[in-house]
Amino acid sequence: KVRVRFAPSPTGPLHIGGVRTALFNYLFAKKHGGDFILRIEDTDQNRFVEGAEEYITEALEWCGIPFDEGTMKDGGFGPYKQSERKHLYKQYADDLITKGHAYYAFDTAEALDAHRKGHEAEGKTFIYNWHNRLKLSNSLSLTQDEVNAKIDAGEPYVIRFKSPQDEILHLKDIVRGDVEIDTNILDDKVLYKSDGMPTYHLANIVDDHLMEITHVIRGEEWLPSLALHYLLYRSFEWEAPVFAHLPLILRPTGKGKLSKRDGAKFGFPVFPLEWDDTKEGELYKGFREDGYFNDALVNFLAFLGWNPGTEQEIFSLDELIQAFDLERINKAGARFDIDKMKWFNQQYMQQKSDESLAEAFQKSHTELADIDINYIAIVVGMIKDRATFVSDFWSLSHFFFTAPQEYDAKASKKAFKEGTSELMQQLIQVIEPIEDVSVENLQTEIKGWITSNEIGFGKVMQPLRLALVGALQGPDLFEIMFMIGKQETIKRIQKVIE
Ligand code: GLU
Repeated sequence: KVRVRFAPSPTGPLHIGGVRTALFNYLFAKKHGGDFILRIEDTDQNRFVEGAEEYITEALEWCGIPFDEGTMKDGGFGPYKQSERKHLYKQYADDLITKGHAYYAFDTAEALDAHRKGHEAEGKTFIYNWHNRLKLSNSLSLTQDEVNAKIDAGEPYVIRFKSPQDEILHLKDIVRGDVEIDTNILDDKVLYKSDGMPTYHLANIVDDHLMEITHVIRGEEWLPSLALHYLLYRSFEWEAPVFAHLPLILRPTGKGKLSKRDGAKFGFPVFPLEWDDTKEGELYKGFREDGYFNDALVNFLAFLGWNPGTEQEIFSLDELIQAFDLERINKAGARFDIDKMKWFNQQYMQQKSDESLAEAFQKSHTELADIDINYIAIVVGMIKDRATFVSDFWSLSHFFFTAPQEYDAKASKKAFKEGTSELMQQLIQVIEPIEDVSVENLQTEIKGWITSNEIGFGKVMQPLRLALVGALQGPDLFEIMFMIGKQETIKRIQKVIE
């Protein structure tokens, strides 16, 4: 059975790259009838951020990509938080020592620093591996008695992986194809520390094994760790999962990797970790606050590094699941194009029901609190094709709800000529007696009056539009009149000629 995991470290708000990783895992799991697991990798206590775990869960929920197993959803492989699995890891580090694949090391930070500097002075990079293992303070350079004495004395230690000498590794990655790595460039990475915590590498491999993960789908930034992870599986004599490293997400310009700093401008996090009203900086916003629809965001993210191989761009989540295929993930970096994201939002806007949009609109505007939701829905239906966000609605439709407070100066100048006031007076006389105020009737009566008196449409329609809308744009005037009613129409015309 396919089992995949999203394994974020709770170091801050979930950024868009993380959501993309979660989504690809989710799509792959669902496509194969498998399970999507959320594992919290919090072994690095220094980088721990309060509230980040809740954030991650909430963000996934908002995006509509729920996990099958994780904290509070035990599937028999818990706990799902590494700090709660702390007691598990030491035995595995010990196992590697017994097998000769790992060793205790007692080097102080100062000693390692001195070695690094020494190498740099000679123009070389310091790699802690077979080249110099024996010159350093570790169990391979000390006698067993010396090692025991140090451990008994409570000296701080780490357990390092013993990377092999002179070997070419042939790694497989679904996205990258075959990757060759010379083990001589590998560091003896730290697996375990004397504070009782495993490092990412050890905990990650042990947990993927214990949780029976079949496919590891993660960001390209983890590709450099792949060799070590392969070696760990081999050393444990465990079967390694299949790996797929997702391409980098590039800046909108296509140059360079999208970073957290770009987030300030592009709403990089899903939503703010902590909403702080006093700080209005863009940094405190996210996709949710910026008014993106969760389904539009998911659709957009699916195309960041993947494509279905057809022209179709709008995919429901179910359609994405059907179409998704690891083989179709690109190697090349994916440009994060916020205009494309907006386009998706627009497309999804058209698909949403006028009623649901009306509810969101009403909630976002106190002016609408007492207005009939059905009326709002009709208005939304008339304007939504010109909106990207619900927050665009008000400026496109305020005149359906309130009379213009002011008139656009340029528009006034254009619409008001000599004789316009008189014409508007006459127009009121035309509208007043209309009994059946339907769009058709208004149109027939007013247009009939204009033609039979040879007035010219612009001369009437422009000031009328100004009166009703306050500007020279907006939806069909007869529809507006029908919506706001006869009395309100007349009131607005009177006001514009006052
Ligand atoms: N904890 C790692 C992260 O924060 C997980 C990497 C992996 O998926 O192996 O991305």
